[in-house]
Amino acid sequence: MKNRSVRATGYIAVALLVVAALRFTPELPDNHRAADVLQQGAPSGSPAALVQRASRTERLNRGETLIGLLKRAGVTDGAAKEVIRAATASAVDARYLKAGMPVEFTADSAGEEPSEMVFHLGVDRLLHMRRSGTSWTSREERLPWKTDTVSVGGTIHANLYQAMDSSAAAFFPGHGKDELAWALADIFEYRVDMSRDLQEGDGFRALVERSVGPGGVTRVSKVLAATFTLSGTDVSAIRFDSRTASAGYYDAEGKSLRAQFLRAPLEFRRISSTFGSRFHPILGRWKDHKGTDYAASMGTPVRAIGDAVVLRAGWAGGYGNMLELRHRNGFVTRYGHLRGFAAGVRAGARVSIAQTVAYVGTTGRSTGPHLHFEVLVGGVQRDSRVALRSTAGEPLGSSERGAFQAHRERMLASLNSTSGVVRLAAR
Ligand SMILES: [Zn+2]
Repeated sequence: MKNRSVRATGYIAVALLVVAALRFTPELPDNHRAADVLQQGAPSGSPAALVQRASRTERLNRGETLIGLLKRAGVTDGAAKEVIRAATASAVDARYLKAGMPVEFTADSAGEEPSEMVFHLGVDRLLHMRRSGTSWTSREERLPWKTDTVSVGGTIHANLYQAMDSSAAAFFPGHGKDELAWALADIFEYRVDMSRDLQEGDGFRALVERSVGPGGVTRVSKVLAATFTLSGTDVSAIRFDSRTASAGYYDAEGKSLRAQFLRAPLEFRRISSTFGSRFHPILGRWKDHKGTDYAASMGTPVRAIGDAVVLRAGWAGGYGNMLELRHRNGFVTRYGHLRGFAAGVRAGARVSIAQTVAYVGTTGRSTGPHLHFEVLVGGVQRDSRVALRSTAGEPLGSSERGAFQAHRERMLASLNSTSGVVRLAAR
């Protein structure tokens, strides 16, 4: 008897937890769907249309004032001034509205002056205007963003941008997939040169916390873990809030991804998707070419791949405008065909890792804008992929190893699950 009541209490508790869990998973209100229905309005001549409310949407033209838009929508001068007064009461400055902003107008029946307006101030911000007689009132509405975690992955075809198109686009529509590509390139910038190291058939997986806004706008909130499989070898990055170091990314062995050198002198987000991963074939190659060429637009910032002292910054024959940096341990990096140098970059100056030191150009023996990059060790040109690979970051302290390993297992399990929304297990 007592046993049964304990069991019953248990069932009730579980049921309550399930109900609570369902209740605390807020659904995104689909305001845009509601707006779409409104815009369709009542089909003319439809017998089912009891209320003939008429709706239409106008967009603010470039250079147009709000008064201009309101007049275009059939609002009288007096009413337009009332509308602007009411909008100002909601702290909306009619002088600073974005061109292209949609405004929905609804009238009680066709041909009448609107009685309601909705200004789409931003993807998550609406201003509702309502008329009562001749006076207007306004109410601002903030649309909620939802946070979730997704696991995505894909195979490299041509370049990282195209891998995103084919695999992550469903979870990161629109601009979101570029944001994800850039976030991954930033995380791995000490280990992988995203414009050169990826080969056809390589793969990636990423566990990403994302923000989904009204209307499906998706942003990368943070990458929790990611793995690139390059020619069969995994390179992982796991975000970990260390107690002793700042939050950062660590590889599977618990070593910081930060290292002495960046793997590429150009920031991946500055390289257009149209350049691809292969060097552009129309650019001429000179004899005894011992460097790496990066195709990029004229003026793209060139960054120092490590802390250094400037050895020389000036004209050097076939190299055109050339920059040489001396790093620790006998490393020298050379950047050629530059359009020019950043302010303060001259022989003897100190520069920091990732600092903009010059700009891509096509000076010297060059047939199109590109950066010629060399790594010299002991005065001899070396393959930068080999020369820069050896640099490993600081390992986590021994007191944090256990916590990191448990966290790593949790993250990698979710990372390697099927693509889709992931529910992370509690710590
Ligand atoms: Zn070159």
